[in-house]
Amino acid sequence: MRAFQFTQAKTVDAALDPGSRFLAGGTTLIDLMKLDVETPERVVDINLLPLARVEAAPDGGLKIGALVRNSDLAVHPEVKARYAVLSEALLSGASPQLRNMATTGGNLLQRTRCYYFRDTAYACNKRQPGSGCPAMDGYNRIHAVLGGSEHCVATHPSDMAVAMMALEAVVHARKDKRERRIALDELYLLPGTTPDKENVLEPGELITYVTLPKLPAGTKSHYLKLRDRAQYEFALASAAVVVSVSGGRIERARIALGGIATKPWRSREAEAALEGKSASEENFRAAAEAAMHGAKPLRDNKFKIELAKRALVRALTVMTA
Ligand SMILES: Cc1cc2nc3c(=O)[nH]c(=O)nc-3n(C[C@H](O)[C@H](O)[C@H](O)COP(=O)(O)OP(=O)(O)OC[C@H]3O[C@@H](n4cnc5c(N)ncnc54)[C@H](O)[C@@H]3O)c2cc1C
Repeated sequence: MRAFQFTQAKTVDAALDPGSRFLAGGTTLIDLMKLDVETPERVVDINLLPLARVEAAPDGGLKIGALVRNSDLAVHPEVKARYAVLSEALLSGASPQLRNMATTGGNLLQRTRCYYFRDTAYACNKRQPGSGCPAMDGYNRIHAVLGGSEHCVATHPSDMAVAMMALEAVVHARKDKRERRIALDELYLLPGTTPDKENVLEPGELITYVTLPKLPAGTKSHYLKLRDRAQYEFALASAAVVVSVSGGRIERARIALGGIATKPWRSREAEAALEGKSASEENFRAAAEAAMHGAKPLRDNKFKIELAKRALVRALTVMTA
């Protein structure tokens, strides 16, 4: 790890330094600094900021501070009662120790687990633009089948973000005196020709909190994660489903997939295939086909296409049973 300047901010204004990186739980940032993948010159510890509360939002939704720990959010009574998909996604991630440290803001901005990104012995367009992408012809079992480009096929690893995508979360961010709201679906960028640019936040822009809208009465939700082992493992494919069914007919569906794409993947195609239809396995399968239409497999990850379809069908089946 290289030497860096370390400060602790006690107010949001004091934390807003465009030349610094924010330290929240540190479970991504410190890891990557030890690997020399991230080499910030200045690090601002934001753990003293008053952003660790979960509160009711004026519109009936929920306001989640950027420093709320993943373990606290997962068991918050409002989250368990009204946003089960989020609680399930959080509890499926990492380990209890990591969830005790990991924060809402840090989880959204965690970096990819692509082996080539995390190992400076290899080229990586995300780390060093223009250097190449060894995953294209290398070992690419964990890589993306949706949203990739010839420059990068690294998956976004967050479970929480997939659930928040299906819940249509909104990120609130501060830079200088300016506050802005960013729909989560618009936070992440596809790699295209600039995989080093992962989201629309500007340097030094701080996520202050995330809001979840109130869900229509009768909405049910579920998160299903498929992985190589039952605990302490990232998703190979996951599905977050938020659905209202009335009289056996799907009135509203919000669908997001994880583990298969370069960003948490909202599937409007699957939603359109479900809305207005009966809650049947045949229609779930049609939605899964629509979600994965256009998927581009690499040498080792073709299995993810069928795995993601099955994850979505299974999640919908369990939830509407
Ligand atoms: C062994 C291991 C297994 C894991 N397994 C899983 C898993 O199964 N599923 C899963 O989803 N995740 C998993 N994770 C990832 C883990 O969830 C993340 O590391 C964690 O959520 C990051 O949160 P943090 O607060 O520690 O972020 P930090 O490391 O503090 O920060 C991460 C990034 O976000 C930035 N940042 C932090 N807070 C803010 C803010 N408020 N505003 C702007 N920028 C900010 C930082 O500058 C940094 O760039 C795993 C991690 C490890 C180490």
